[in-house]
Amino acid sequence: MRFKALEIAQSRQPFQPVKQEKSVQELYASNVFNDEAMQKYLDKESYKAIKNAIRNGSKINREVASHIAAGMKAWAMERGVTHYTHWFQPLTGTTAEKHDSFFEPQDGRAVAKFSGDSLVQQEPDASSLPSGGLRNTFEARGYTAWDPSSPAFIYENTSGKTLCIPTVFVSYNGQALDYKAPLLKSLQALDKAASAVCKYFYSDVKKVSASLGIEQEYFLVDKVLYNQRPDLIQCGRTLFGYMAAKNQQMEDHYFGSIPDRVFNYMYDFEIEALKLGIPLRTRHNEVAPGQYECAPQFEEINLAVDHNQLLMDLMDEVANKHGFKVLLHEKPFAGINGSGKHNNWSLITDTGINLLSPGSKPESSLSFLTFFVNTIKAVHDNADLIRASIASASNDHRLGANEAPPAIISIFIGSTLSNLMENILSGKKTDKNKEGEKTINIAQIPEILVDNTDRNRTSPFAFTGNKFELRAVGSSKNSSSPMTVLNTAMADQLTRFKNDVDALIKKKSLKKNEAILQILAGYLKDSKRILFEGNGYSDEWVKEAAKRGLNNIQDTPEALKAYISDKTVEIMTAHDVLTKEELHARYHIELEDYVKKIQIEGRLIDEMVYTSILPVATKYQKILADTVIALKEAGMTKADISAQTEVLKEVSQNLTALKKITDEMIEARKKANAIENIENKANAYCNEVRIHFDQIRSHADKLERIIDDKLWELPKYRELLYIK
Ligand code: ADP
Ligand code: MG
Repeated sequence: MRFKALEIAQSRQPFQPVKQEKSVQELYASNVFNDEAMQKYLDKESYKAIKNAIRNGSKINREVASHIAAGMKAWAMERGVTHYTHWFQPLTGTTAEKHDSFFEPQDGRAVAKFSGDSLVQQEPDASSLPSGGLRNTFEARGYTAWDPSSPAFIYENTSGKTLCIPTVFVSYNGQALDYKAPLLKSLQALDKAASAVCKYFYSDVKKVSASLGIEQEYFLVDKVLYNQRPDLIQCGRTLFGYMAAKNQQMEDHYFGSIPDRVFNYMYDFEIEALKLGIPLRTRHNEVAPGQYECAPQFEEINLAVDHNQLLMDLMDEVANKHGFKVLLHEKPFAGINGSGKHNNWSLITDTGINLLSPGSKPESSLSFLTFFVNTIKAVHDNADLIRASIASASNDHRLGANEAPPAIISIFIGSTLSNLMENILSGKKTDKNKEGEKTINIAQIPEILVDNTDRNRTSPFAFTGNKFELRAVGSSKNSSSPMTVLNTAMADQLTRFKNDVDALIKKKSLKKNEAILQILAGYLKDSKRILFEGNGYSDEWVKEAAKRGLNNIQDTPEALKAYISDKTVEIMTAHDVLTKEELHARYHIELEDYVKKIQIEGRLIDEMVYTSILPVATKYQKILADTVIALKEAGMTKADISAQTEVLKEVSQNLTALKKITDEMIEARKKANAIENIENKANAYCNEVRIHFDQIRSHADKLERIIDDKLWELPKYRELLYIK
């Protein structure tokens, strides 16, 4: 079976994408109800209303909504759309949609309808989506509500087109059941706090938004081989597999030339992405064989997250056409690099200033310093919550493994800024300007940062010139959760900062700049232990971090606890992002997700051991045993048959151990399943069930190494990673 699959995979003709006649300019956002489309299809009043909603979050009334719906429908139907759907991001981590036709039968004819109500709000039954107890059966209704700040788009399938309307998903009582609602609320909180702080430096700033550019890593495997691996199909990662002799040690894949078949795939999904207004710009080979990356131009954060979710769906769909399967799991293959989703984050004013970009003038320098140091403090004070926001069963494999940041949250800022921070702390290198105020002489920063060679790829949170890059996010994760946390932590920190500065000015009648500097120096003192410039992958760092009192939380059940800590409840409720109830619901859902994932893996390990690995090993055992007997009968000495006997012994030993540990795991699983309390259950799955996985695998992989290649049924690492 395996050889047949290999043959098919090897002989596959590369899929030829339809030659694209249109230019990028023509294609870009052609399936988006963007500004240009709105101007054409909406009356002036509706257009203004929607722009106001985007800019200031103002409400759109029902009458205007019905005009907008009519315009949207006309636009969509001209493009061959027949159905519409509210498109949302439930807490499953994927996207959800329920299509309705525009057409209604009327007097024996089909009439196209799309009302304002249908645009603004829907009630998909969706009762099977996770709610963490927020939806009791008597009020099980869930509502989707239109988010005008993310434009509607047309999703094309081979045989039809659907108008998709980005929405939030909330319960009957308005509690968030999705990722988008809290993200939007965190952006409001951030805007409020950051705009207030901006007043110290710029009088004309009315709004601050967050920008996000998401680098997306992924693996590609041939679909035929994928279909021979139940573990890839069911768990998204290999549960077994002996390491290929050549894996990533030659470092010849990274930035190498892209294989033609892969290039065709990338090209194809990029075209589809461009049509949806996803501004993809970068593509390259990643470090591990079979691993790649793409990245768009950064966008406003809510849009960037929607686009990333959409992109993951697109990548999956287009891969199918090309005979590939795209793996978005954080660790599809043991022993080689895993995949992440680097979240490049910054703050941008409505006047176009990047608040995390060091400017050349003293006042912009102080503004930069303010936002920079407050970010450090926010991350320092909320490190555990950030860790929780990136926790998942799959990311546990990646954090701290090959070429991935450790589970310790630290910040890299580069040598120039490190020196500057030292100076601020020691009060050195401060000049007096004309007004007699103390300012920091940081005129040298811009030039050095432009050079931007000072990179540290081992840090989970690195400053990269004009933005921070959170590199610990898992490749399959919805970026909303870490971004909601980061925005809220920042909003909280900036609110405190404003209070502290104002209080100091009042108390000591200090000049504004002096007060700001004093407060920033105090913050730095409090949070400097989180700054780390060295190698984050090293064992020394683990020890050093422990000395500094930084947490190193290895497992998801432990990490998730930060979601319900008093501190989290305090900041999330203070900024109206998530209520205590919502936080507890999320905690519950994440724990359940963890349990289910480990449970599925445990079951599949059990099945694969008993129905594939054990039978193959037994077959080989019999071949060897028969040979040994035959050779003995033929008069061979012990020495003559030592090779066969030794291999037979090795097979037998590993087989016995494999079965024994698998049975122990099955027992542990049964015990864990009997536990009612979800926290205890997750802990049992983490500490009693999952701990057997590596050992089981190690015996199975040893068998794979020595058993006759022709008998082995599962495609091997060297095949999965190298067949093109
Ligand atoms: P790399 O980190 O691989 O060197 P870049 O730093 O050039 O790549 O860009 C990575 C991502 O960061 C891209 O999506 C880019 O658009 C985004 N980015 C650049 N500037 C900003 C910013 N000010 N805010 C948010 N994202 C940004
Ligand atoms: Mg980067």
